[in-house]
Amino acid sequence: MFAPEATTEIAAVESAPPLIAHIDMDAFFVSVELLRRPQLRGKPVVVGGSGPRAVVAAASYAAREFGVRSATAMAKARELCPGAVILAPDMAAYRAASTRVMAVLAEFSETVEVLGLDEAYLDLGDCPTPKSRARAIKHAIRSQTGLVCSVGIGPNRLIAKIASDLDKPDGLCLLVKERFLDAVGERPARLLPGIGPKTAERIGAIGITTVAELAAVEFEALAAIVGHSQAEALRARARGEGSAELCIARKRKSESRVRTFDHDLTDPAVMHRELTSMAERLAADLLENDRRGRTVTLKIRLRPFRTFSRSRTLATATNDRATITAAALALFDEFERDAPVRLLGVGLAGLEVEDENGPAPEAAASGKPGTRPIQLTLVDLDGEGRDCTTSN
Ligand SMILES: [Mg+2]
Repeated sequence: MFAPEATTEIAAVESAPPLIAHIDMDAFFVSVELLRRPQLRGKPVVVGGSGPRAVVAAASYAAREFGVRSATAMAKARELCPGAVILAPDMAAYRAASTRVMAVLAEFSETVEVLGLDEAYLDLGDCPTPKSRARAIKHAIRSQTGLVCSVGIGPNRLIAKIASDLDKPDGLCLLVKERFLDAVGERPARLLPGIGPKTAERIGAIGITTVAELAAVEFEALAAIVGHSQAEALRARARGEGSAELCIARKRKSESRVRTFDHDLTDPAVMHRELTSMAERLAADLLENDRRGRTVTLKIRLRPFRTFSRSRTLATATNDRATITAAALALFDEFERDAPVRLLGVGLAGLEVEDENGPAPEAAASGKPGTRPIQLTLVDLDGEGRDCTTSN
């Protein structure tokens, strides 16, 4: 089903315009686990924590058939798929695997923007045979790491990212702008970045549910509900317009430690202890990487789900444990709580960059906690019987 011939090339690229590839590892956390537990291949496997509020970090494709998705509550996942093998996340292993994957990508292009543990953009330049290059990348990743990925190729980041999702898993899809709406026009507008449930609801109120409807909407009608600047941005995205620039030297400008508690906290002494321990871990990491920042931030979420952030900017940049802890505790003491606390976090922003010209090794460690929910479908974008039901 996923033979190389099944991949999708949409319109020949004759003049070889610059192209970007988006590489997205398939079911990354689970795939890393399966490498060391091959006996679990083909079985429903779920990676997730064990607390009462734990959610699924990743689900194997077999588990997805039971409706288990990333961010599903673990309790719900057990209910949906009682036979699932449940594994605790091993972030160190995922980071190590990610580093190996990104090292393979670096062999193919000097311009690689790492987006998280399992995703990256790669500049293909004006490569005349982008699909062959993508196949070579897929093959190199598989042979050097044992892991499988999907690659999307497009004229900009937006299209490349959407294309990588069209043919998952083990996908390869090249999508030119002229065919963007043919490929995804009938899909929900929520497919586009920047359209969350709220925006979806607002544009739904004026009858827009699909990407094509958004692309064709009368500008004033859209601007009336989301404002002019957002209307412009949304309509541009729906037409496949986007930036082709990659941020290769992206450095994280802030660092934080955040914790959601299994049970809401009410005792200020306990909260002080939690904040102190987070501030200490944060300071230790910053010290180790020789990074300093000026703005200490406190994040606090009250029951049921109200999140606040407070910050204080210091006179000089620091990574001193006592200074960060004191500022975090002061922010906490000044904050007026009117409900139990679900989550606390301590961060340091405005980080100074130690090495302006170096690579961005931390970018690979800033991964998001899971893979997107994806159904397994073969997409035939050129054929008559088009099936664009992948993912949500
Ligand atoms: Mg992925």
